[in-house]
Amino acid sequence: MNLNELWQAALGEIELNISRANFLTWFKNSALIDKKNNVVYIATPSNFTKEWLQKKYHKYILRALRNLSPDIKQIEYVVSAGLNHSLSAKSLLKTKTEKSEKELNNLLEEQLNFSEFNIDPETNLNSRYTFENFVVGANNELAHAAALTVCQNISLKYNPLFIYGGVGLGKTHIIQAIGNKIHNDYGKKVKIRYLSSEKFTNELVNALREQKMESFKKQYKTLDVLLIDDVQFMAGKDKTQEELFHIFNNLYEHNKQIVFTSDRPPKAIASIEERLRSRFEGGMVADISAPDFETRLAILRTKLQSKNYALPDEILEYIAESIPKNIRELEGALNRVIAYFKLKNIMPNLLDTKKILSTILQQPVKLITGKDIIKKVAEFYGISEQDIFKESRKRDVVKPRQIAMYLFRQELKSSYPYIGEFFGGRDHTTVIHACEKIEKVCNNDQGLNQEIANLRDLLHS
Ligand code: ADP
Ligand code: MG
Repeated sequence: MNLNELWQAALGEIELNISRANFLTWFKNSALIDKKNNVVYIATPSNFTKEWLQKKYHKYILRALRNLSPDIKQIEYVVSAGLNHSLSAKSLLKTKTEKSEKELNNLLEEQLNFSEFNIDPETNLNSRYTFENFVVGANNELAHAAALTVCQNISLKYNPLFIYGGVGLGKTHIIQAIGNKIHNDYGKKVKIRYLSSEKFTNELVNALREQKMESFKKQYKTLDVLLIDDVQFMAGKDKTQEELFHIFNNLYEHNKQIVFTSDRPPKAIASIEERLRSRFEGGMVADISAPDFETRLAILRTKLQSKNYALPDEILEYIAESIPKNIRELEGALNRVIAYFKLKNIMPNLLDTKKILSTILQQPVKLITGKDIIKKVAEFYGISEQDIFKESRKRDVVKPRQIAMYLFRQELKSSYPYIGEFFGGRDHTTVIHACEKIEKVCNNDQGLNQEIANLRDLLHS
């Protein structure tokens, strides 16, 4: 992988983690210009962007890069005015042909309320996350109730509170809402600190390097409420876990409140120390799942209100229907729809909404051909492509052949006679028999099921 490929691959991953508007705003015209020893150099068009990347997106960038190239230890951000635009974000290039895209993005940038700057330096909390603007549905009511209980009974009831759920479902929102509510209710009487596990790790590493461990630890000792977001990232980092464990014990023994979030339950976090895991499980564990349709609609309504814009129900319903799994994406889609209608200065309508969403939802769909199926199946089972077409009834050929037929049916929706023809003029009843057999075995055989799932992955990747 050359530098550009590395950066493009990393951008692809970063894009999935942040809103599209933010991605376009902060990552366009960025480039990875050098990699020396364990340091990569990322060029940004302005000092402002540089600071943002450093402050706000460093963890995403580092994670994405390290996933691709684990030797990377450090990132240096540099300002470079004459950045070559051909190096800019891949997804931007994709849409560059659309003339109004640029204007749209400008508007989106404007629309982005810069409340992201509203971070209290003392608590590290962003005031935009509150209980007031958190919509409660069946998917999060347990976590919500537990969070409120914590606010009203600091360190008396659920300690620690451990909240887990998938990406973009409101973990950060809820953990910060806890902090903001306590801060509002008690002011300076209660000392709060919110941080991501990555920030925690970074601070720890710095403290170690600068031999400031004493003050690092002391700073935590004085806290009343510690909120740590995304603890799954601590997996595998022994020293971080060790320190967290000590800090945790210390706070816990002094009756201080601790809240964690994670993308999975404590049990599912690989390679964390058992004693830390049992600490995580020692209080209250609550999950957040994907919101149902009504909740998604309610979320859209809440967001719409704060934007002072009106959209008819059919549009909101369409958006809610189209984006079922991720509230961040739901919000992104809403922003985009609003930006579009504002820009064009037209009445919001369903037809345009569908068009806008289809460009957001469009995943590059790979067209699979019959040849691809034959090739992959042969590769997968270690036989030659010709073997699949031959008359042979040997088991190690028959099974791949039947699976290939099954995939023709499933992936290409080919007719039975067509498949028969393709596989060397076999009768269509043979094909039906093969497909039914694979289906039947699949239902009872996890192994075969997995094989076919793997094959599908190979076909689509
Ligand atoms: P996570 O940390 O789980 O990845 P976030 O807390 O960052 O997700 O949520 C993603 C976006 O969705 C944020 O803008 C957040 O405000 C919003 N959001 C999530 N859940 C809700 C909710 N129940 N009500 C309103 N907004 C929500
Ligand atoms: Mg989060």
